[in-house]
Amino acid sequence: MSQAQVLYDLQQIDTEIRTKKQRLGEVLRLQKEPPALLAAREKAAAAEADLGRWRARHKDLTLEIATVADKAKRSEERLYSGVVKNPKELNDLQHEVEALGRRRATLEDEALQVMMTVDERQTISGAAATERDHLAEEFAASVVHLQAEQQTLALQLNRLLDKRKKQVPLAQPALLKVYDQLIQEKRGLAVAGLRANKCQGCQVTLSASTIRAAGQGQLVRCDSCDRILCPL
Ligand SMILES: [Zn+2]
Repeated sequence: MSQAQVLYDLQQIDTEIRTKKQRLGEVLRLQKEPPALLAAREKAAAAEADLGRWRARHKDLTLEIATVADKAKRSEERLYSGVVKNPKELNDLQHEVEALGRRRATLEDEALQVMMTVDERQTISGAAATERDHLAEEFAASVVHLQAEQQTLALQLNRLLDKRKKQVPLAQPALLKVYDQLIQEKRGLAVAGLRANKCQGCQVTLSASTIRAAGQGQLVRCDSCDRILCPL
């Protein structure tokens, strides 16, 4: 086998390794929760916290109403108990009962408003939770596929690296150095095919002398991009 062919085969292996490594990196990145899901989680948590605050407010009001009602009941009992005889005290008690009644009505109005807000926020929170769960399920399903792909890529890379290990000793060390150098300089493509008088790396039509030399089995480089050429 010609050195051009040896290096060309090595190039095919290296290109495949690079592609698989890139995809593997992507597959690993895609297994992180996407921004849409993170945003949905935040939104659902905020809606839940908001709902919690309104529920707590309603609970506080309910307790306050009970306290006011209890106080009014005790004042009323005292008012009609017959124990209090002093007209001023009776008058004060009367006013207190009335004031407590008004306070209770105000609190009950507020409690009703708050309850309506709780209902509304419950709907919002429910919708946010549904959206979050939907995205989370979708993501979990995609992760299953990605993990399978990750496994496949790891096995393929393993095989390619083995293949590379067997291919490298077939190349002359000096040429291997040139190859490595070109890999660095030419964005990963050191060896290009020579087909229909053209370099497949840069698509430039090669000179007659280069084509002739390649035809005679010499190791030639592209006139334009300097890549090693392998007649296909
Ligand atoms: Zn070229």
